[in-house]
Amino acid sequence: MTKKTFLTKAKALEITKQFPTPLHVYDAKGISDNADELYRAFSWNKGFKEYFAVKATPNPVILKLLRNHNCGLDCSSYAELAIADKLGFSGDDIMFSSNETAAQEYVYARKLGAIINLDDITHIDFLNNCAGMPDKICLRFNPGGEFGSDKDIMGVPRDAKYGLTRAQLTIAVEKLAQLGVKEFGLHAFLASNTVGNTYYPLLAKLMFTTVLEIIKETGVKFAFVNLSGGIGVPYRPDQEKVDIFAVSSGVEQAYNDIFVKNGINDIKIFTELGRYMLAPYGCLLTKVLHFKHTYKEYVGVDACAAHLMRPAIYGAYHHITVLGKECDESDKIYDVVGSLCENCDKFAVNRSLPTIEYGDLLLIHDAGAHGHAMGYNYNGKLRSAEVMLNEDGSFVQIRRAETLNDYFATLDIHSEFKAQT
Ligand SMILES: *Cc1c(COP(=O)(O)O)cnc(C)c1O
Repeated sequence: MTKKTFLTKAKALEITKQFPTPLHVYDAKGISDNADELYRAFSWNKGFKEYFAVKATPNPVILKLLRNHNCGLDCSSYAELAIADKLGFSGDDIMFSSNETAAQEYVYARKLGAIINLDDITHIDFLNNCAGMPDKICLRFNPGGEFGSDKDIMGVPRDAKYGLTRAQLTIAVEKLAQLGVKEFGLHAFLASNTVGNTYYPLLAKLMFTTVLEIIKETGVKFAFVNLSGGIGVPYRPDQEKVDIFAVSSGVEQAYNDIFVKNGINDIKIFTELGRYMLAPYGCLLTKVLHFKHTYKEYVGVDACAAHLMRPAIYGAYHHITVLGKECDESDKIYDVVGSLCENCDKFAVNRSLPTIEYGDLLLIHDAGAHGHAMGYNYNGKLRSAEVMLNEDGSFVQIRRAETLNDYFATLDIHSEFKAQT
């Protein structure tokens, strides 16, 4: 089966001539159009905002592009706050959804005026002692048990380390109100990479009901509900993209049934999508270096799990297109493998592909989120460059490839590893 690419072979060759493989390429138009569509889908909710999960693709050019399409940032660490800070994000444009948080991270988040999302009840005192209480705060909810519908269990919150229990939420809200907090938000992230249209609507129903209960119990004001991430993308060619309008209309129905019916119509909907915002709009380009015929047919490429980790650690499927052979019959079965000294370093196992030849350029799809970001240096592998393809066909490097000097940078305490100039 074929899957649409945003790169032709000619364009990929033009780009890789200037920036060699392995290389991550992003599609500015795809990112922009998708963000705009999300906002159109949620336009019924005044104040709707997407906080892009920075961890998915922490590149400044991408974050600025998303800001041009009204997105804020969801940060979870000191370094991610620093990226937001350097790009001029502040206040309500930053959500700080961390866990096992260090004091210096809360201090930094407060300095930037970020909305802090507390992961545990004990963090109330911790935050108050190290950074003081903000006027507005968010609490992360873990309902326990299993989450989903009768026929479709999407996640198992009881096994997740995140969030407060339902009983803790009420106690926390009362305590925070006493400490001077004036506005609240509720957050929950209960399932990952969901492919149907029902995750957000089910989650919204649970969260809106919970918010209404807490308002009745405590009388506090809720400013927003943060549905967080978790909407998936069609990694496989036979899957369909989530219908974001159907998703949003399911959330709207829950909003009307639970909030509006009870006289509440000013609670904002926030999201913290990562994968949905970026995965389909980035790809990994890699060149075929070797063929090996032993007990199986192997195609060896110049990228490895250090450039895209998901297949190696989750067994995740990433579709592969042999550029220029989009219309050829998939008459061969290959394992497409990288060069790590790890047998899990396989981009594809038993994959039907057209006949591959030396020098062919492979496009590994849906690498735009949790792709380059999860890169690492095992086996002395250097992280690749990132390139943005603009709508007019021009392209620009948005992160250079690592060099040996980068790899040695933390060894510069040894004279023989001092950077070469
Ligand atoms: C990872 C993460 C997200 C984004 O998740 P996706 O599955 O990429 O949408 C959002 N919020 C939090 C707190 C996260 O940890």
